[in-house]
Amino acid sequence: MRRCVDLDALRPAMVADVQVVTSDGKSIAAHSFVLATASPVLERMIDRARRGWNAECTIRILGVSSDGVFAFLHILYASRVAPEDEEVVSVYGPQLLALSHAYRVGWLKRAAEASMTARLTPEHAVDMLKLARLCDAPRLYLRCARLAAKDFAAVERSDGWRFARRHDAALELEILQLLEDADQRRERWARERASREAYRQLAEAMDSLVHIFSDDRGCTCADADTDATPCRGLRLLMRHYATCSARKAAPGGGCTRCKRMLQLFHLHASVCDRAAPDDDDHPCRVPLCSHFKAKMRAEKADKTWRLLVKKVTRARVMSRLAAERKVPELVAASWARYSNGGARLR
Ligand SMILES: [Zn+2]
Ligand SMILES: [Zn+2]
Ligand SMILES: [Zn+2]
Repeated sequence: MRRCVDLDALRPAMVADVQVVTSDGKSIAAHSFVLATASPVLERMIDRARRGWNAECTIRILGVSSDGVFAFLHILYASRVAPEDEEVVSVYGPQLLALSHAYRVGWLKRAAEASMTARLTPEHAVDMLKLARLCDAPRLYLRCARLAAKDFAAVERSDGWRFARRHDAALELEILQLLEDADQRRERWARERASREAYRQLAEAMDSLVHIFSDDRGCTCADADTDATPCRGLRLLMRHYATCSARKAAPGGGCTRCKRMLQLFHLHASVCDRAAPDDDDHPCRVPLCSHFKAKMRAEKADKTWRLLVKKVTRARVMSRLAAERKVPELVAASWARYSNGGARLR
């Protein structure tokens, strides 16, 4: 790696007026106005040093190696992380994060955190998690937690984890808690994915109902293609509904499949915005639509049903927008992820 250049060379017109002493006793000549401009903490330290007995104006930057302090000062002099200094940030990342947090240099803290987050490996996840917590670096903390959850076998082999197990019960407990949270989160996502898939299938069934009863000819999907048509499952269900002896024996009841068909007709009426067959140029021909609409006008639907209608309506809108490619790519990808897999409605 390229060594940091002499700080005096960066401000040749000025005389260095502050000495920065490091943990290993080295002294670095620097310019007070550069340090004071970059950090309010260094500004206060310089002020105090000037007001007291410290005529030479010496301040101490402790806790990291002198190379780390030098890298810190070098980047403060540049006032930004230039492309040629990215390697410095990557080599001294942890030290720069600690110093920029302690001396309140926000832009450098963000740069160090981003650099460390991008280069994080399971071997260092435990140490970096501890540092991220101490330095209040949430992005790095989250990345460590995710990496630990994703590749705990590698984390377990790391020195950081072994040290935490022997000497830092609080950190060990914190990591185990993070792993448990990640497991719970995965389970919750799986449940949410499954329920979204169910709403998507119901939305598809609503479209199929309208398609099947769109005109007098009804559904004309070729039988040869039935495996590929979304209406196939619904047509089979309706064929059963029309002939089910259990339903005929007990009108309004019947077998499970008939009850499901009735629920689909009811759901259709809840999302249908078309008029009754006699009132409109484009009437709704779905069976029982006007019957269920009249029933819904007479008695208010319960909360669970209203929530179901809301979610199916949303799933329907999302499916249509995704099909028309009107949604941003990110949303479409997320929707496709939720929509993939799972059995089709039969
Ligand atoms: Zn069809
Ligand atoms: Zn039946
Ligand atoms: Zn309708």
